[in-house]
Amino acid sequence: MQADIAVLPGDGIGPEVTAVAVSVLKSVARRHGHQFEFGQHDIGGVAIDRHGDPLPPATLRACQQADAVLLGAVGGPKWSDPNARIRPEQGLLALRRGLGLYANLRPVRPHAAALNASPIKPHLLTGVDIMVVRELTGGIYFGDKTRDADSASDLCSYSVVEIERVVRSAFQLARQRRGYLVSVDKANVLETSRLWRDVTSRIGRDEFADVRLEHVLVDAMAMHLLSKPREFDVIVTENMFGDILTDEASMLAGSLGLLPSASLGDGKVGLYEPIHGSAPDIAGKGIANPYATILSCAMLLRHSLGLYEEADCIERAVDGALNAQAFTADLAGGARPLSTQAAGQAVIEQIQ
Ligand code: ATP
Ligand code: MG
Repeated sequence: MQADIAVLPGDGIGPEVTAVAVSVLKSVARRHGHQFEFGQHDIGGVAIDRHGDPLPPATLRACQQADAVLLGAVGGPKWSDPNARIRPEQGLLALRRGLGLYANLRPVRPHAAALNASPIKPHLLTGVDIMVVRELTGGIYFGDKTRDADSASDLCSYSVVEIERVVRSAFQLARQRRGYLVSVDKANVLETSRLWRDVTSRIGRDEFADVRLEHVLVDAMAMHLLSKPREFDVIVTENMFGDILTDEASMLAGSLGLLPSASLGDGKVGLYEPIHGSAPDIAGKGIANPYATILSCAMLLRHSLGLYEEADCIERAVDGALNAQAFTADLAGGARPLSTQAAGQAVIEQIQ
């Protein structure tokens, strides 16, 4: 197959991890006889420096015309003045909006070889395989805000359509996985959560009777994620709860450097990126963990290109590399760590 993949390296370790991930994609393409084109485009801080705009129109256009987008990370101390009018993160928000992305998928699957990197006891982690689906466009982050001398407010609102579309995506994933969906809300106090719960129940009843649906309050979920993570399959929730729960869930896997993500919508283009940021403290040193970005490429192949076998091939190769102790500094403990490049090479050797 032929595919056009837009690559947005961004800032900090972004260029280092995307370069390695692209070479992994090239090796998969060679092995399976596909032709992938990679166009590189500016976003974030580098785009502010070069174009005065964190999402130059040419970048957005290239992404809209591509089959999928692979992103590194944006931001860094150079652009972090809180009073700055233009900030790197605005580029990412504008890109999500421009591509109509509303569902953020974060799989959490602790790797056997890296269980010790997690603060959770290893016996609780064996077999954990969770997919968190976070709503990405609505809720309190995007509602009207007010501020005067002695008060402030943030409006939280959701429309039925916004809930329906993300919940349907989650049900579909649950159907493809183990057939179990947990919807997280705070329906005992929030009106938006009561609407969320009603819409989710209706869709479950009318369209996904084969999927087991449960509603869990967000405070209880925060606890269950750590006490019985093995019990969950797909978890769907609104924007802010998802933001918080996915950071919590990332600790199950040990290192930020292991977790991929996909952002999907109704449009044909998906956005794939590691969940970590630009890690300015280690940028330019060649020591960043590239596995999160490599695993994001597996999600890209699966969700945007429908190349399931190739996606499995990348995930198996990462498992193989980790089993062979191909650890970067964040995972190595006392052992001698590999460079970003060498870890990527270990994955490529597994693929070949
Ligand atoms: P953002 O606001 O962009 O999400 P952040 O403030 O959450 O960023 P990160 O950039 O994700 O921060 O970095 C958090 C810590 O994790 C840093 O110490 C960083 O070095 C480390 N880290 C992040 N990504 C990686 C990686 N791929 N490999 C190794 N260490 C990483
Ligand atoms: Mg962060």
